[in-house]
Amino acid sequence: MIKMMLSCKDISEVASLAIDETLPWRKRMGMHLHLFICKHCRTYVSQIGFIHRALHHRSDELVHMGLVERTLSVEAKEKIREKLEQQKG
Ligand SMILES: [Zn+2]
Repeated sequence: MIKMMLSCKDISEVASLAIDETLPWRKRMGMHLHLFICKHCRTYVSQIGFIHRALHHRSDELVHMGLVERTLSVEAKEKIREKLEQQKG
């Protein structure tokens, strides 16, 4: 369990891979464990993750994980909503 845990530095490195879904499950698990205890990384990952997904895929998964609701400010959500609206239009 301890060995699977990633550091904050690791998170910044693997976050974009995790979002692109190219991260091996073991690292992905380590990332989730770290996010569970580290608010800073949770915010970081949820913000880049949500924006990435909003623009390229679906945002459902992150919302499911509870990351977005807990960490994104109302203002940030509004901005993302605007982006999505622009893309649709
Ligand atoms: Zn961290």
